[in-house]
Amino acid sequence: MIIDDYKHKGLRKKLVKELQGKGIYDQAVLDSILNVPRHIFLDTAFLEQAYTDKAFQIGEGQTISQPYTVAFQTQLLEIKKGEKVLEIGTGSGYQASVLCYMETKLYSIERIKSLSKNASLIFQKLGYKPELMVGDGSLGWKVHSPFQKIIVTAGAPLAPEPLLEQLDLGGILVIPIGDQKVQTMVRYKKDLTGKITKEEHGIFKFVPLLGEKAWKTTQKI
Ligand code: SAM
Repeated sequence: MIIDDYKHKGLRKKLVKELQGKGIYDQAVLDSILNVPRHIFLDTAFLEQAYTDKAFQIGEGQTISQPYTVAFQTQLLEIKKGEKVLEIGTGSGYQASVLCYMETKLYSIERIKSLSKNASLIFQKLGYKPELMVGDGSLGWKVHSPFQKIIVTAGAPLAPEPLLEQLDLGGILVIPIGDQKVQTMVRYKKDLTGKITKEEHGIFKFVPLLGEKAWKTTQKI
């Protein structure tokens, strides 16, 4: 059972105001942040801090992104209801839930099995039904492509070729690109002729995207 009381709701209202102050204007994104209970994605030890604009450890050396980063990436995606969206890096499942609340058809890939499992339990509680896969997201998810939107929630040295290929005509890919410490948020747009353009949207810090088409890993998935 989820405990989501007036105190949590009040803290989310404050968070939404804070995000508006930082430049988030997409009402659908703000509504989603207002309604998705972020505290249930965190260890109970962090309950008090769940609605501060901070990233937190979620185990396995990974993090739940800070609410501003989730809102910013989602805003860049220009989501419309019913769109098919691919997320790379399910992590805690918070970003995925924000996208599910926005009524997307979500596919999400995570390389660490235990994180994917924990996230799937939370999705059940929230009544969301994203398609989940444990595997290497740098390869995309070809059988379900093309995707209208793709979001990568880990830092990569470049946009993996399979993700650009699996992006639909008219689609958007948002991905932090840089080294393993700091990245630039990049938005790729594929026009209706298949031509790809690139825009840069500020500096962020993510854990690295590992995998065949990103930083190499020696660990087995
Ligand atoms: N979206 C997550 C959330 O809302 O909590 C935050 C994700 S965390 C910043 C990045 C995630 O990407 C980690 O869980 C990490 O294991 C995952 N990851 C890294 N490389 C990956 C890959 N090649 N395929 C799938 N997941 C990957």
